[in-house]
Amino acid sequence: MSILKIAIQKSGRLSEKSLQLLKECGIHLPSGDRKLKTEASNFPVEVLYLRDDDIPQYVEQGVVDVGILGENEVWEKGKNVVEVQKLGFAGCRLSLAIPKDEHYAGPEYFQHKRVATSYPRILSRFFEERGISATVEEIGGSVEIAPGIGLADGIFDIVSTGSTLLMNGLKEVEVVVRSQAVLISHPELSEDKRLILNKLLFRVHAVQNASANKYILLNAPNSAIPDIARVLPGMKSPTVLPLVDEGWSSVHSVIPEEAFWEVIDELKRLGAQGILVIPIEKMVL
Ligand code: ATP
Ligand code: MG
Repeated sequence: MSILKIAIQKSGRLSEKSLQLLKECGIHLPSGDRKLKTEASNFPVEVLYLRDDDIPQYVEQGVVDVGILGENEVWEKGKNVVEVQKLGFAGCRLSLAIPKDEHYAGPEYFQHKRVATSYPRILSRFFEERGISATVEEIGGSVEIAPGIGLADGIFDIVSTGSTLLMNGLKEVEVVVRSQAVLISHPELSEDKRLILNKLLFRVHAVQNASANKYILLNAPNSAIPDIARVLPGMKSPTVLPLVDEGWSSVHSVIPEEAFWEVIDELKRLGAQGILVIPIEKMVL
């Protein structure tokens, strides 16, 4: 029997979310101390806990079949792997930043300057595409202190809120790429492993659809139902159930989270009452 080997980050910003995703997909991993690898009890997968930097190489070599990590690491390592599915967590951007009192008019600013980064490959490509010749100083960590100690004129690093930049007297001047967690795969999986991966992806989609949508229930006078049905298309069309009160119905439907506030306002305007919004656990289209 085949087993799909999945690499996730051992400890760091991606670890908990990666484990949570597997759990929401109904995959039971033995709890307790995180060893090098664990096997699921109810699904043919084995989870290996690794440093995120190493995952692209292991996936390319086929030491593991798939991996979950930030796109930034996938792009930086440039290995022969396939981005199968964006996962929607660990969002961040890779940006250029310079001392906050400097005047910035565009990427030409970096002409003949020195920039410190842990992502030399992504940054060099950005400069190359714009015909900018700058010196890229590769450093392992704490990139944000480089300008302060005279190691570089600017930095290129991960930004999520910008507070680290601010604390180091820097300002973000150019967003080069946006990244999120992704599932990558070896370019050629065996038929057996591909089947397991497809089964896993089916579950991932169900989890993603569920968190992107809400279940909504409301009461409305029957005369308002046609208009309400137009605002609430649902998966097919809304369910309408009669209330004991003559002339009133209960309407059930599914709405995208992002449309939520706008839809609620519109429903109230159309005469809806007692609106309940409930999270969805799984959703299969
Ligand atoms: P490892 O020891 O596994 O190499 P790491 O120190 O490289 O860990 P983390 O800091 O845990 O990595 O970040 C992992 C990933 O989380 C990043 O590569 C990036 O994709 C994502 N991420 C999201 N927001 C941030 C942030 N504010 N700072 C750093 N990484 C972030
Ligand atoms: Mg790392």
